[in-house]
Amino acid sequence: MRGKMGERAAPSAERREGDFKATGLTPAFPADQACEPISSGFASPYRHDGSRRPTDRNGGLHGGTDITLKVGTPLLAIAGGKVIAKGAGGQMEGNFLWLQHAPEHTGFPFWVHTKYQHLAEVPALNIGDSVQVGQTIALAGGTGTAGGHYGAAGYPHLHLSTHFGPSDEFELVGAYSSMVRARDAKNSDFLLLFLSSDADRAAPESLLGEGKQVPIAIVGEDGSVRPVGSKVVWPVACRARGN
Ligand SMILES: [Zn+2]
Repeated sequence: MRGKMGERAAPSAERREGDFKATGLTPAFPADQACEPISSGFASPYRHDGSRRPTDRNGGLHGGTDITLKVGTPLLAIAGGKVIAKGAGGQMEGNFLWLQHAPEHTGFPFWVHTKYQHLAEVPALNIGDSVQVGQTIALAGGTGTAGGHYGAAGYPHLHLSTHFGPSDEFELVGAYSSMVRARDAKNSDFLLLFLSSDADRAAPESLLGEGKQVPIAIVGEDGSVRPVGSKVVWPVACRARGN
């Protein structure tokens, strides 16, 4: 009985997390900065190259946000938080790192769990380490992407997923203990974290389909967060235009 329920629980939890809804949000970067753009957004049915995602996972919709990057590009903590998991995952996943962000870290009224995938190597940070917003936490890579659609060379990029929920309680599940299952958490669009109005934050569903642009806070070449004091930043540093 218990075993059967366990078997049934997995797909249902998967469905909850896989019930992906596009938000219609798009990033608006500072005009004087060149930033790495999204190559495949949350809940997109398309990969970075315009090809259709296979429909056997998440109904063919993207479970995160992709940014195409050179191997070795520094990846930044999108907000302050704590390292809660890291390791070498399997195919489609690669080396990964999970951060946990408390509400005070993001200003968002949820606990947020963030996963960085396809890292060049398993990060040196230890479980339990605190990270500051904009801190370099890992290097981009293509691990877990070689083979299949992407060919033998793979496709270096950051896959970033963000899970929003009411609690900091979680368990590690999956074949590589690489999935943080936070209680009642929902996988949703990373760009929600850049919403500034309390009303929008309280009801992000109301934004669906509006095509709303969200101003993105960034880390500049000198490592400074802009605007100063921003709690959430783009996961890759930008550089001043014209340099
Ligand atoms: Zn992805």
